[in-house]
Amino acid sequence: MSASLHIHTPQPTEIECLNPATGARLGSVHASSPDEVKAIVERARIAQKKWGQSTFAQRRAVLQNIIDLTLANIDEICEAVVQDSGKTYENAILGEVMPVCNKTKWVIKNGEKFLKPEKVPSGLLMHKAGRIEYRPLGVVACIVPWNYPFQNVFGSIAAPLMAGNAVLVKASEAVAWSTQLFQNIIDKALAKEGFSADTVQIINGYGDTGAALVRSGVQKILFIGSVGNGRRIIEGSAQHLTPVIMELGGKDPMIVCEDADLQQAVHSALGGCFINLGQNCIASERIIVLDAVYDKFVAEISKLTGNLRQGAPTKPGDFDVGAVCSPLQIKVIDTLVSDALANGAKALVGGVLPKGPGNFYPPTILVNVTPDMRIAREEVFGPVMLIMRVPNDAAAIALANNSEFGLQSSVMTKDRARGERIADALEAGGTCINDFGMCYLNQDLPFGGVKYSGFGRMNGRDGLRAYTNAKAVLTDRFGFSVPPKLYPVGPSVYANAHASIRMLYASSWTDRLASLWTLIRLSMKSKG
Ligand code: NAD
Repeated sequence: MSASLHIHTPQPTEIECLNPATGARLGSVHASSPDEVKAIVERARIAQKKWGQSTFAQRRAVLQNIIDLTLANIDEICEAVVQDSGKTYENAILGEVMPVCNKTKWVIKNGEKFLKPEKVPSGLLMHKAGRIEYRPLGVVACIVPWNYPFQNVFGSIAAPLMAGNAVLVKASEAVAWSTQLFQNIIDKALAKEGFSADTVQIINGYGDTGAALVRSGVQKILFIGSVGNGRRIIEGSAQHLTPVIMELGGKDPMIVCEDADLQQAVHSALGGCFINLGQNCIASERIIVLDAVYDKFVAEISKLTGNLRQGAPTKPGDFDVGAVCSPLQIKVIDTLVSDALANGAKALVGGVLPKGPGNFYPPTILVNVTPDMRIAREEVFGPVMLIMRVPNDAAAIALANNSEFGLQSSVMTKDRARGERIADALEAGGTCINDFGMCYLNQDLPFGGVKYSGFGRMNGRDGLRAYTNAKAVLTDRFGFSVPPKLYPVGPSVYANAHASIRMLYASSWTDRLASLWTLIRLSMKSKG
């Protein structure tokens, strides 16, 4: 037997759900099998027929119901998120509930404006009228990670729903428990307007469940997750040529110039790196600091980081940071930090995996990190800040761009022109000047990455239209049509075309007039 023979172990049919901060068992949730996924997709397809015919007003009503039910259940949602992910109540309310309300409201307000049919000029065909109809695609699948249990589900469904699609969300196995509450909210929001619960279904399961969804023939896939699984999704989506949006990892740089407001820079870096305990695709993992301010910056941020209180949250305000959601992620963080320390990096704060219960990794600051270290290149997705010293702007930009990733980026400076110059040079899907990751909150801005951070965009006009078939329609402008008589080919067709093209597109007026004269002569000749 070949040593490399791959034996596929069937995934469990139940997901055991634990609180990562306490280890307490929350319960278990059914993991859908590939056959069950097929049936779910079929039900969604049927439900979409009615949803796709709904008016914008009905879609707005369902989305508003989602906001209303979210607000009515805000404490239950935060509690479920805290139990399922180990994050703090503050991260749950500000990092999950608030962005979901913000995004859903934006879609309610702007959906129709960007999705209604759009008239376009018809160019040479003056007797015709052209328009673009933003038609639903059908069933959209969103495969999402564990870092924001509530936001990853609700933030993914608003745009495709508004565009008239049924939506299937494959939630992460690491946060399956809270999906029961979320599905309940969605079901109620749909039922109140008379729509089937099959219109939006959350699917729980492991990689096999996600893989079955990818190969199910849905019309579009949004994948939010790691680069490795992103590649698997693309392989799977090739089967039905299903288009994909890829929202993958990041290694976001924040450049701190010597003329930055020091307090603002320190607090932006703290927030950028430690919000959600760094389990954030747009975490500012690399803080690149200009030499002149480096020592002050490092001293100030180390003091504040060392004072962060970490523990298993039981109520709002008891801790600054919570637990790492996935036990597998703890291993990734520890491996990268240990490798860096073994190769000459220094931990000013943290850097040691604590013994004891719960998935905890402490907020950590590493200095003396060199670009060749694994930790400088690979995504940590945890509470580890690398602070790197550079002599000038050019070196800062070069270091920032020295990455396979390009999700978001930041620059901190009081000099507006300098901020714009640096932002212009950064290879990323977005840059915040004097802030961290806030591009994501501005729903009018597209969100996404370049390089290995992915492609396609969420949010904004492009994020809505991403879930449509931009169907081109050309019709008669007036009450009559001009039949094109192409055959049989007349003797002067070529000469007419020759003169017409020159008349329309030549850069010189004399050329154009000469061509017009040729056209007149050709016309007189054909009549005479
Ligand atoms: P992951 O890739 O392990 O899992 C993401 C989802 O894919 C999960 O639901 C998982 O069950 C599913 N999955 C796993 N194997 C699959 C397969 N073969 N086919 C189909 N689906 C499969 O990611 P994660 O560990 O849950 O999340 C962390 C990653 O997500 C980080 O890299 C982070 O940067 C990224 N992320 C990106 C964004 C963004 O918007 N760019 C946002 C959040 C997280």
